[in-house]
Amino acid sequence: MKKRITVLSGDGIGREIVPQAIRVLESIGQTFGHQFEFQHAQIGGEAIDATGYPLPPETLERAKSADAVLLGAVGGPKWEGLEYERRPERALLGIREQLGLFANLRPAKIYSPLIGASTLKPEVIEGIDVLVVRELTGGIYFGKPKGIEATATGHRGFNTEVYTTEEIRRIAEVAFQAARKRRKLVTSIDKANVLESSELWRREVIAVHKHYPDVELRHMYVDNCAMQLVRYPKQFDVIVTTNMFGDILSDEAAMLTGSIGMLPSASVGSTVGMYEPIHGSAPDIAGKNLANPIGTIASAAMMLVYAFDLTKEASVIEEAIKKTLEQGYRTKDIESLGTTLVGTKEMTDHILQNLSNG
Ligand code: NAD
Repeated sequence: MKKRITVLSGDGIGREIVPQAIRVLESIGQTFGHQFEFQHAQIGGEAIDATGYPLPPETLERAKSADAVLLGAVGGPKWEGLEYERRPERALLGIREQLGLFANLRPAKIYSPLIGASTLKPEVIEGIDVLVVRELTGGIYFGKPKGIEATATGHRGFNTEVYTTEEIRRIAEVAFQAARKRRKLVTSIDKANVLESSELWRREVIAVHKHYPDVELRHMYVDNCAMQLVRYPKQFDVIVTTNMFGDILSDEAAMLTGSIGMLPSASVGSTVGMYEPIHGSAPDIAGKNLANPIGTIASAAMMLVYAFDLTKEASVIEEAIKKTLEQGYRTKDIESLGTTLVGTKEMTDHILQNLSNG
């Protein structure tokens, strides 16, 4: 198989962790006889410094013409003073919109050697395997009208939560299809007792469910879901929800598993998908070889599954990560008593070693 991957390392630790994921993909390519061609482009702060724009047109072109996009992270204190439209983070909204990436898939799965790294009790989190499917291009982050306007006594800030039948149905399809490959349970999260947009959300999810009689559908209000995720997370298989609720709940689900540095994500939609760790550019540890590369390496594994249908290759990566953790190697964020502290590069060295022994 021959595939072209556009690589957007971005800022901060993005520049350290993305090269590690590339090393892993290259190793998989050699073992299984695939050819992955990597094409680099600038995004975020580095793109602002070079061109004045967080998402230059040539980056977008390279992303659109690739078979998949691998992203690190964007942002950092250097660019925080810029006006909102010029900030690095705008590039993320722009690329998602331009690539039509309406679904964000975030698995939260616990690796057994890391049970101790979670703030929750082992019996609560052991065996959790949740997939949060978040709607990514609609809802309150994009709805209009929005703005800040003057009033007689001060100002008024406002945003609009809006969803259409089409937007809800296509994300529901993604969730039901994902559930079919898992434990066949979808929990749809809304606030239908208060919001009309949620009332429609629930109605449309029920309509789509008629085509998936083999999958169980449950509904839950978002406030209850936030509580249930820490009370009894094993009750969830696939969670499907709106942009803002998904933003919050997927971070909460992430923390169940210990470190934000461990978790991958996939954003999919019409054609080219984008694969990235869920964390940001971590300016506090950037350039120090401290970052955990596993979230990015696991994102590359998701790319193999969702973009290239290479499930065997992806499970080989998952196994190598698990084995490395079992051997006791840890980056700083997941370090615990009795384990061996390693850097970003060394963690990847061990994963590569286990790949070739696997
Ligand atoms: P962050 O995720 O960058 O960092 C939060 C904390 O987690 C920090 O203490 C950091 O050191 C730690 N951390 C994150 N990833 C880690 C890893 N791989 N290994 C070890 N520790 C890790 O979030 P933040 O500090 O709120 O944001 C920093 C910058 O990143 C901001 O400019 C923000 O806008 C941006 N950001 C970008 C993305 C993205 O590119 N997708 C997402 C979130 C935040």
